[in-house]
Amino acid sequence: MGTHQISAELFQRASAAIPGGVNSPVRAFGSVGGTPPFMTKGRGPYLTDADGREYVDLVCSWGPLILGHAHPAVVDALHTAAADGTSFGAPTPGEVELAEELVARTAAEKVRLVNSGTEATMSAVRLARGATGRAKVVKFAGNYHGHVDALLAAAGSGVATLALPDSPGVTGASAADTIVLPYNDIEAVEAAFAASGDEIACVIAEACPANMGVVPPRDGFNARLKEITARHGALLILDEVLTGFRVSGSGWFGLDGVAADLVTFGKVMGGGLPAAAFGGRADLMDRLAPLGPVYQAGTLSGNPLATAAGLATLRNATAEVYAHIDAAAERVSAAVGDALAKEGVAHRIQKGGSLFTVFFTDAAVTDFDGARDQHLGRFTAFFHTMLDQGVYLPPAAFEAWFLSAAHDDAALDRVVAALPKAARAAAEVG
Ligand SMILES: *Cc1c(COP(=O)(O)O)cnc(C)c1O
Repeated sequence: MGTHQISAELFQRASAAIPGGVNSPVRAFGSVGGTPPFMTKGRGPYLTDADGREYVDLVCSWGPLILGHAHPAVVDALHTAAADGTSFGAPTPGEVELAEELVARTAAEKVRLVNSGTEATMSAVRLARGATGRAKVVKFAGNYHGHVDALLAAAGSGVATLALPDSPGVTGASAADTIVLPYNDIEAVEAAFAASGDEIACVIAEACPANMGVVPPRDGFNARLKEITARHGALLILDEVLTGFRVSGSGWFGLDGVAADLVTFGKVMGGGLPAAAFGGRADLMDRLAPLGPVYQAGTLSGNPLATAAGLATLRNATAEVYAHIDAAAERVSAAVGDALAKEGVAHRIQKGGSLFTVFFTDAAVTDFDGARDQHLGRFTAFFHTMLDQGVYLPPAAFEAWFLSAAHDDAALDRVVAALPKAARAAAEVG
């Protein structure tokens, strides 16, 4: 194991100036222990840390970098955009082009650009409430929609529960309008609507959940959500912040074809810069200010750098790119399975398109309770042994692994070569 001296010093300084030393909690390695490497450079499939160690990156900034780090087309687009000025607070051609690209690729008839996935889901829920005149929101345990107050209520398993807030600072009042249901349980959805259907503004679900690890919807689940919400005059919001433009040219919609009333995007569409969007039926979107009464705004929304990076990314995310990522995911996930099987480590690999998660359990994972019922100690040993060998995995068991167009055979060979030792370390945890 090499030295991490500079990262350790940076983490100490960071911890004095930033809570926990990080600007987003999972980066702190809280669930796997140890000090996070501080990254200084990304090139293609590789990251370099402050101590000069190189890693094959299987996080890809948690999804956005579908072309890999510092893709020349994205870097060029950013140079050009920056030279022309970084923000105008007025309409720009780039926003039009990005909005048209999103509309062309998805079922959304209109979109509005925002700066983060959190902002997208927050705004979509507000619009759903404004359009229906109803207050309640149904969400599913283990589905993550950013840190919106009303959507941080994820507690409660089994039957429908009125959720208690997950975080201090989220008031009981804002969580009281949130109904949390077990994922993949259509009976629970029917029951919630039978009980309070005329108070429910919307159901929000990840189109294919990947924030409790990858837990795909059962066949027909999203279609049933669409049917039930429509029957009760409520709206369906499918959150494609993670899956949009990653699992196919459009997202999960490209795989199951269920068109939600409203949909949210982020991550890939910003190409590594802060850009996100919500969109959907034109009649709903036209209820937003300035056309309609539902207020929503942003100083930096549709920022020229973000739209330039997003457009360059989407325009280079061709059918060949998606085919390459699918094949790379197939190779890596099969190799992980082989390595763990050889050591007799109970595991289950679940896929949603090219996204996949290695669960350290042998039971099928269909909901949040199932995802939590795994051997986290084995994941920790596996993770650190991969990291020591120069493979940067998501530092938590409840995450997807991400590949990119830049993950060539040389990079994948390095991942595969590191697996036997990591599988052995997992097995030794017992
Ligand atoms: C990442 C994510 C979000 C939040 O996006 P941020 O840009 O981190 O605010 C929302 N929904 C899903 C499904 C996500 O994966």
